[in-house]
Amino acid sequence: MNIEKIRSDFPLLLQKHNGKKIKYLDNAATTQKPKQVINAIKKYYEKYNANVHRGINFLSQKATEKFEDAHEKTAEFINAKNYKEIIFTNNTTEAMNTIAYSLGSMLKNGDEILLTKMEHHANIVPWQELAKRKKIKIRFANIKNGKLDMEDLKEKTNSKTKIISVTMASNILGTINPVEKISKIAKEQGAYFVVDAAQAAPHTKINVKKINADLLAFSGHKMLGPTGIGVLYGKSELLEKMPPFLTGGDMISTVTLKQSRWNKLPWKFEAGTPNIAGAIGFDAALDYLKKIKMENIEAHEQKLMNYAEKRIKEIKGIETYGPKGPKTGILPFNIKGIHAHDVAGILDEDAIAIRSGNHCAQPLMQEMNIESLARASFYIYNTIEEIDSMAIGIEKAKKIFGI
Ligand code: PMP
Repeated sequence: MNIEKIRSDFPLLLQKHNGKKIKYLDNAATTQKPKQVINAIKKYYEKYNANVHRGINFLSQKATEKFEDAHEKTAEFINAKNYKEIIFTNNTTEAMNTIAYSLGSMLKNGDEILLTKMEHHANIVPWQELAKRKKIKIRFANIKNGKLDMEDLKEKTNSKTKIISVTMASNILGTINPVEKISKIAKEQGAYFVVDAAQAAPHTKINVKKINADLLAFSGHKMLGPTGIGVLYGKSELLEKMPPFLTGGDMISTVTLKQSRWNKLPWKFEAGTPNIAGAIGFDAALDYLKKIKMENIEAHEQKLMNYAEKRIKEIKGIETYGPKGPKTGILPFNIKGIHAHDVAGILDEDAIAIRSGNHCAQPLMQEMNIESLARASFYIYNTIEEIDSMAIGIEKAKKIFGI
């Protein structure tokens, strides 16, 4: 991977802040966008902007073709059967709400759903809302040494478990969960297996057939694509059975004043005018990732992680979190005596962007007994030098606080 060449594709990274090179280490929140993505969106608006599935005119036909191609390319990217299994949503959060509402409506009172204690709010809150509508019990598998406690997960799975929904990678700890094993446990009980792949899809190859996921969700903006475009994958046999979440235009085949019939997959789940520009931008992001190859991305991040963990542990008073061994490019840490927001603020003065706070996973923070956490997260354009700059910035923060 030629990092300098990759960096030259990202206009934002070529800017300076306070006269300093931008060191963007907040990729788990969202990634930067290469010019190929920006140009694809610009081209759509300048050359063939029109609504999809509605017009005989040449503009609408071209927009529809590109929009549908993006579904097909996404299907290929995750090894789905075809475009019918790919629903575009706003983001992972909307996809998880669709799942909890729609799959949730197929559950009966007394059924159980099994989640884990390392879930993002997007894979907790929609299920809690479901539990307000139905008498459903939500259980949470424990975490042990930064990893999912598989024994506990097995123990909490029983004949009442109808859905197991887990994150494939934690956005706080970087932990990679053994989704294929969890899938087997779910299938043995006849439960549906749902995967939140928001943190995994940008960093590793997703193969929905190998995982044997019934439903799986991820966000375009975390993998070089624009904001406002997410993916909900579903096995077509299951999606056929599930009721739609949002209803109205485009998701119907016929409407009378008495009743309506649903459109074919995937359009049954895409109500209203979709994010056409977002889908086209996402298509360009997938091209970009495919060209670099996911295995190269993984190897680059692993190299950065190995260096960062070693480098940061040299700093006295630093505490790091997460499991030993491979993880997605996430480095969570705290410095004794300094609040994570202060660390982030001091790094920001040197144009180093990290994240601080609870990272939309408050239950995990409660479990770890910490209020706030600093998090550096890496992607394809990050370098060893940027990690050094961060380490120097942390030392500076310590000096300012007299630690
Ligand atoms: N799940 C995980 C594991 C995530 O990392 C994120 C985003 N940080 C989400 C869900 C939610 O994604 P979005 O905000 O794009 O809906």
